[in-house]
Amino acid sequence: MNNLYDVIVIGSGLAGMTAANILGRSGHRVLLLEQHFQFGGLATTFKRRNGIIFDISLHGFPVGMIKSCRRYWNTEIADRIVQLPKIRFDNPQFSIETTFDREDFTRLLIEHFGIAKESVTGFFDKARSLSHYDNDQQTVRELFNEFFPGRMDVVRLLMEPITYANGSTLDDPALTYGIVFSNFMSKGVYTFQGGTDVLIDLMTAELKKNGVEIQKSSPVRQILVENGNVAGVVVQKDKTKQPQIFRSKIVLSNANLKGTVFDLVGQEYFSDTFIETAKTVRLNNSSTQVYLALKPGYLIDENQCGDLLFSSTAAEFSSEKLLAQPITSRTFSFYYPKTRPGTDRCYVVSSTNAHFADWNAFSHEEYLKQKTQLIEQTLDHLEKYVPDVRKHLDWVEAATPKTFKRYTGHWDGSSFGTKYEGLAVSRRLPQEIGGLFHAGSVGIIMSGWLGAVNYGVIAANDVDALLLNR
Ligand SMILES: Cc1cc2nc3c(=O)[nH]c(=O)nc-3n(C[C@H](O)[C@H](O)[C@H](O)COP(=O)(O)OP(=O)(O)OC[C@H]3O[C@@H](n4cnc5c(N)ncnc54)[C@H](O)[C@@H]3O)c2cc1C
Repeated sequence: MNNLYDVIVIGSGLAGMTAANILGRSGHRVLLLEQHFQFGGLATTFKRRNGIIFDISLHGFPVGMIKSCRRYWNTEIADRIVQLPKIRFDNPQFSIETTFDREDFTRLLIEHFGIAKESVTGFFDKARSLSHYDNDQQTVRELFNEFFPGRMDVVRLLMEPITYANGSTLDDPALTYGIVFSNFMSKGVYTFQGGTDVLIDLMTAELKKNGVEIQKSSPVRQILVENGNVAGVVVQKDKTKQPQIFRSKIVLSNANLKGTVFDLVGQEYFSDTFIETAKTVRLNNSSTQVYLALKPGYLIDENQCGDLLFSSTAAEFSSEKLLAQPITSRTFSFYYPKTRPGTDRCYVVSSTNAHFADWNAFSHEEYLKQKTQLIEQTLDHLEKYVPDVRKHLDWVEAATPKTFKRYTGHWDGSSFGTKYEGLAVSRRLPQEIGGLFHAGSVGIIMSGWLGAVNYGVIAANDVDALLLNR
């Protein structure tokens, strides 16, 4: 009986933890199983010598995170969310600084880019009005052509940060762009003060308070299905030990959507039409990151670098170039001591979107060589903003799409789950197998910190309704 739960959540990403918290708070018996030795999924940190700590995915999210955290977590978490006021762009077409909200973008588009006020207003209003329910087939490219024909510089300003934020391209549905862009434009870009480790500690404390049982280093190998319904999960901590079975009629998976269907359940349990559709779902891209810790006491010039810097040497914006090797575009996140009050160290994380296949094709020696090259080229590029950066370095290392796959189990190390079509597949799971739910990065809108939290809320509400009906 000890192994019998109302709900089992697989994975402690922001979606999994949020769903578990809401369900635990509602009085259900919830077990959360995480395969990694830390909670948080991509919202996590890693440590190195001398107190160095790197945030993996804390670059920026929309203001909506405050409301979601206040409502579904607690005020202590919500009150630590603060704005990143200095967002910079530096590329061959323009070099500007912005607070990244509608008011400032309107000013820039009119004064700096010479766009008519009506086009700017029309664009913002249309982007905000796009909704799931309209079934509008317009692509992002067509949306830009409608308001800013021939203006690739404007496309770059409006698109580059969103491509970084969720890997979307000009050929994705306009609504996926419109929703994410409008979320950011409402009040700018925000971060969590204190670092991701503090956030995850506060979240795990809240989970425990709400009676959720949480277990790390507990990989789920299989979701059990009996007579078309979920029956529980099999956990195998280590090959030398007996697998453990945990029973529940409801399993909510926060693991990669394709991994959930094809690896954890198995395609034989689904209808043929569902499997055909699931196979066509495209994964989102992955990324490379270079993590740099500066020596204690060395302060980066905040006015020169800002908080987030979209830097590129490419002549024009191109979604393909943002992913391609050789790298032309990098987003630098600058972390000052204010990010982690009480410390005197600055950090820089350089992110570039990347294809898993490019990195997976290398031999072991070539892979290591490419990582070193990635670090050296990033340092060369960073010199422009942090002069003599090599002299002030305390630590540097790189992560690749293979690193992300290894630590999260995401197919192809995908940073943002799947493309938009994954959302319909994710939502269809309970009709295919009774009691099977999914929450986590799918479909651009439901990815990123805010999207993942909000998808956790949606899935928890579905599970809660099912439990109440039963
Ligand atoms: C480099 C990078 C930078 C990013 N920057 C930002 C940013 O600045 N702003 C932003 O909003 N978003 C950012 N993102 C995206 C954001 O981090 C993710 O969209 C979000 O954290 C994903 O949450 P999730 O709930 O979907 O789950 P994930 O974080 O993907 O977690 C899934 C969890 O499930 C666990 N799991 C998988 N399989 C199993 C199994 N079989 N058994 C048990 N556990 C399992 C994994 O270990 C993992 O902990 C970034 C992503 C990356 C990779």
